[in-house]
Amino acid sequence: MSVKKVGVKPQTLIEKIFFLDFMKGLSTTIKHLFKRTITVTFPYEVLQPTIRFRGVHGLRNVDGTESDDFMSWVKKLKIKPPEMGETRCIACKFCQAACPVPELFTIKAEKLNVPEDHPHHGLKVLAVFDMDLSKCMFCGLCTQACPTDCIIHTDIYDLSAYTRRNWVLNKEMLSQIADDFVSRRRDEKFDEKSKWREDQPLWPQDEEDLRVRAKLWDGNIPKLGPNYFDQQEK
Ligand code: SF4
Ligand code: SF4
Repeated sequence: MSVKKVGVKPQTLIEKIFFLDFMKGLSTTIKHLFKRTITVTFPYEVLQPTIRFRGVHGLRNVDGTESDDFMSWVKKLKIKPPEMGETRCIACKFCQAACPVPELFTIKAEKLNVPEDHPHHGLKVLAVFDMDLSKCMFCGLCTQACPTDCIIHTDIYDLSAYTRRNWVLNKEMLSQIADDFVSRRRDEKFDEKSKWREDQPLWPQDEEDLRVRAKLWDGNIPKLGPNYFDQQEK
């Protein structure tokens, strides 16, 4: 009894002689040989994401671009007025309240130990700000809740680490990450009052954007992430 093949069209003699199926497949390969390469050989090559990317967090420092109500928040929370280069964080914990996984934050403020006649008597400073990024889903809710535009997402996506402890970043590390990010990409991300610019595209928009993106593979790449800190110093 002969078996009837279902759904498979037998090759014609011409197709068999000239390997037409094989040539069809090969033509696709050849077409892609001349197209722009979109894959990168991570970690030897690093692709810089668009500015709206929600990567590893950073804590911004005071740099003169704070919004008009920054000092009123500082007064309201009884925080020592921060100087240039000190953290914008006022320990309000709004980020923690907005977070779907609030236990990933440890935020503590401490009263300054100064005499009663000191102008900073009764005021507080940020003592602890730890984030356990192993629990984070990078949803961005914390950054939107922050009244001082302190906590931000950066373009760092390399979260590989040897231990879970490496994913816990303290305030010094988070500040360093934000400083690095702001110095590299500030103009793309923020307007003059630290707010997000309105015109941030999600993807490269045209050929010009693609050329810029390609150039960035070779320079101006993120330098900081959990793996780049010496965990022994924590
Ligand atoms: S990105 Fe989302 S999950 Fe991560 S810390 Fe912020 S609010 Fe929490
Ligand atoms: S919301 Fe902003 S200012 Fe408030 S604790 Fe979080 S990072 Fe600090």
